Amino acid sequence: MQLTYVLELLKPTKRKENIFLNNIAEVVKNRQAIADKLKAGEAKLSSADFKEHNLPSAVKNQNIREVKALYKRFLKSKSKKENIEFKDNQPICYNNQNYKIDNHIISIPLYTSKCQRLAFPVKQTIRFKELQQYIKDGCKLDKASLFYKRRKWYFAVTIKIDDKKTTNTNVMGIDIGLRQLAVASIKTSKDKEINRQFHNGKQAGFIRKKYRSLRRRLGKSKKVKVIKNINDKEQRWMTDLNHKISRQLINLAVQEQFGPIIMENLENIRNTAKSLNRADRNLHSWTFYQLQQFIEYKAELAGIKVEYINPKYTSQGCSKCAKVKKSNRKANLYSCECGNHIHADLNASRNIANKYLEQQSA
Ligand SMILES: [Zn+2]
Repeated sequence: MQLTYVLELLKPTKRKENIFLNNIAEVVKNRQAIADKLKAGEAKLSSADFKEHNLPSAVKNQNIREVKALYKRFLKSKSKKENIEFKDNQPICYNNQNYKIDNHIISIPLYTSKCQRLAFPVKQTIRFKELQQYIKDGCKLDKASLFYKRRKWYFAVTIKIDDKKTTNTNVMGIDIGLRQLAVASIKTSKDKEINRQFHNGKQAGFIRKKYRSLRRRLGKSKKVKVIKNINDKEQRWMTDLNHKISRQLINLAVQEQFGPIIMENLENIRNTAKSLNRADRNLHSWTFYQLQQFIEYKAELAGIKVEYINPKYTSQGCSKCAKVKKSNRKANLYSCECGNHIHADLNASRNIANKYLEQQSA
């Protein structure tokens, strides 16, 4: 399968920026000229027909192929426009032999003067670290493109990943919640827990409170734009955290080499947040959903299947004797008459794994 990483580049100098803006302008000019010729009925085009454009012939040929395809679609659409148009911020494309990623530097060749290369430092983000991990693991880089949007430069890299499948029968149940953002229990098919992982929600709770009080103070002055910025900041923080948590869960999964990851489907996740006010609840269903999505796609990349179970009784039932009693759960602790006294969320994650195993053996 393919994955695309959009990397933000650190702000280049004015000189570099102008060089690349000129490159983009040259590409746009070339594409427009190709479209004009196609419109005039010239179907046989080659790079030699565009000598006036300062671009390597490989790029011109690529443009001819792409514009031809676009023109075909344009005719089919029966658009009333005079000609197909090209945006000023066309991405510049590279194949994997053109560009290099070395530590945190991306180096790309100039279109307008062949032998020259320019280096761009990449902004350090979790996404970039993930990409570096794939490169380290021997993943193949594929096509990439450089583009300019809202005064920032981005480099979009595509990588190819082998689809793997494991046949191990161990399963990992993951309980997602508030006090513990995620608790994982790895069980063998013979009902033995071989590993577990906790992701405490304390820091997230602290951040949530901090932003909430900030919003409250600003709410009185109706600074809508500032409040929106705060919301974005909080979301980015949670997204980063969700990336970290899902990465660690998948690392554990890979380390224990097992079959499917089991999670509850989202209905229940909304209920676990019942005690919160509506704004917080929305935020929570959003971050819970995002965490599940991150776990799901990272699992897929690692060749691990994800299964969902019905969440009924996963927090009220005993993971040891299967008795269901709501009052056995008191805050963080689950205490059953059978002698099972454990962390309530670990109990839930074991139940999630158990439910799947039961379904399998039924
Ligand atoms: Zn029990």
